[in-house]
Amino acid sequence: MRCPYCQSENAGDALVCASCGRDIAVPATLIAERDDLLRKREELREELRQARDEVEAIMRRRKSH
Ligand SMILES: [Zn+2]
Repeated sequence: MRCPYCQSENAGDALVCASCGRDIAVPATLIAERDDLLRKREELREELRQARDEVEAIMRRRKSH
C-alpha cells in the first residue's frame, strides 16, 4: 500500500510507513476526515478568539462608564 504522506510503497499489511515512519494503517477516508476536523477546530478557535475580544471590549466599555 502507498503511504498517503510520502507516497512510498509499503507492504500491504504495514501499519507504519517504512520510509517516513507515520501510521498508514488509518484509511485515507479517516485521514481526510481528521484533516477536516482539524480545520474546523482551527476555525472554531479563531471564532472563540474573536468572541473573547468582543466580550473584553464590552467589559472595558462598561468599566469606563
Ligand atoms: Zn511515508
